[in-house]
Amino acid sequence: MADAASHQQELPLPFPELSGDQPLLPARMVNEFVYCPRLAYLEWVQGEWDDSADTVHGRHVHRRTDRPGGALPDGEDEPERIHARSITLSSNRLGLIARMDLVEGQGRVVVPVDYKRGKRPHVAKGAYDPERVQLCVQGLLLREHGYTCDEGVLYFAGSRERVRVEFDQELETLTRSAINGLRMVAAAGRIPEPLEDSPKCPRCSLVGICLPDEVNFLRGREATQLRPIAVSRDEAVPVYVQANKASVRKKGDNLEVTVDDQVKARPRIREVSQVVLMGNIYMTTPTLHELLRRGITVSWHSFGGWFLGHSQGTGHGNVELRVAQYRGHDEEQVCLRLARGLVRAKILNSRTLLRRNWRDGSAPRDLLSELKQLADQSRHASGLQSLLGVEGAAASAYFRNFDSLIRKGSDDKASLQFEFSGRNRRPPTDPVNALLSYTYSLLVRTWTVTLSSVGFDPYLGFYHQPRYGRPALSLDLMEPFRPLIADSTVLTAINNGEVRPSDFRTVGNAVSLSPDGRKRLIGVYERRLAQEITHPLFGYRLSYRRLLELQARLLARFLLGEMPDYPNFTTR
Ligand code: SF4
Repeated sequence: MADAASHQQELPLPFPELSGDQPLLPARMVNEFVYCPRLAYLEWVQGEWDDSADTVHGRHVHRRTDRPGGALPDGEDEPERIHARSITLSSNRLGLIARMDLVEGQGRVVVPVDYKRGKRPHVAKGAYDPERVQLCVQGLLLREHGYTCDEGVLYFAGSRERVRVEFDQELETLTRSAINGLRMVAAAGRIPEPLEDSPKCPRCSLVGICLPDEVNFLRGREATQLRPIAVSRDEAVPVYVQANKASVRKKGDNLEVTVDDQVKARPRIREVSQVVLMGNIYMTTPTLHELLRRGITVSWHSFGGWFLGHSQGTGHGNVELRVAQYRGHDEEQVCLRLARGLVRAKILNSRTLLRRNWRDGSAPRDLLSELKQLADQSRHASGLQSLLGVEGAAASAYFRNFDSLIRKGSDDKASLQFEFSGRNRRPPTDPVNALLSYTYSLLVRTWTVTLSSVGFDPYLGFYHQPRYGRPALSLDLMEPFRPLIADSTVLTAINNGEVRPSDFRTVGNAVSLSPDGRKRLIGVYERRLAQEITHPLFGYRLSYRRLLELQARLLARFLLGEMPDYPNFTTR
């Protein structure tokens, strides 16, 4: 074995020494870059992360090695065997950092051992290049710190096998070129292209963020075979707490909701996507910390359901996306193009709702063709003002006829009379308007949380102009979904008899929902979000909840210049 000093002389620097604020490159990112340059870019430059079954299992495999134990020797002549776990080494000279699962050896001669979930692959070099390169980065760092390190070991937990990896010239060259490649790609500030029809994608934890097949398809690569990979993730669900003076506490791996010291619910935290607190609810600080740590949003509402704000970890690190959003907002043509598409989709989806839910027979043809014409006009609107006019005309035609979608008392299920003669708000003056307003506020919150989790600033829109406290981007993106999710929820709640006249209270001329009525309406709303539909462009099935995230991610891909247009969602 060569000594440490000779190795340091042999090793050309990947880069000149880093200045103080340049980030060190983690060994894991070099692995990702060799697997797929786009994956490394998404994670390292854009700060994206998502768990997959593989990453969760990987953490389980690492649970022992992640616990620090033992230490690397300091002195020259320490004869004892080394067995040091979870060691982090970095070097400004190399611009690298790595956490090593295990370092074994004796004296100054060491071997890094990297734990991998899964079985040893039967390939020529004993392991795939991404893992070999990651291990080699660890070797480079150990040498940099004065150790002799000519080989490493990959331990495959699935088959309990150790594979020896020699740090030969070929592997070092591959490793250095990956390090240089990633730094160059990051400095260029342009995300690498998605892979095409690659078997790597379905295994990739970021497939639902990267959207390789969807991006390729929307760029006109019609031959792209879309795989339902963007929708494979298990879905956690929101927890709503609205009982007056309820408290929410973390108890082990659960959230415990109590009212007057009585436990009312105990959902598992890992099955919670967000916590929605309505009114005077108490949440302990350790609970809030745990939820923030796990990236679970807590949204705060007034007792009446008014969205006050949300608490959300340290925020998303994707600065590139927010810059692209601000840039798009400043470009009149981008705003107009997006606004036209959103309004058109809203009108078409409203038309579909009328067509599908007309109470007595079919919706009038002249109404449907009026809405179709308005949808066509929205495509060619010359500016945001004229688009507002088109949207207003469509909304007026739609709400003029909304009562025809409501079952009346003589119908089997609807024992109640709900009348609707037009849209009003602030405050709503009848039960149907109270239901619509409340459901729109739920939809705004859902979009705000979704957009924030994707990395957008929900307060800067393209169609809705910025105004203090108004989540303009949420209002933009919810337009096509008002009929599909909110109005449809209201119709289901009424027509199935899930809300009743006794669920409303009148103060002055303001009508609002009682807590019980709200609870049932929220139940219908959440059922609607969980409902699966077939995506008209991509052909796979997904829930509305997942669809909102998909749309937000597609908007991100458009604003980042990866796709020629933002594809709005319309149903037939
Ligand atoms: S989904 Fe495919 S293209 Fe996208 S980052 Fe993962 S491996 Fe790369």
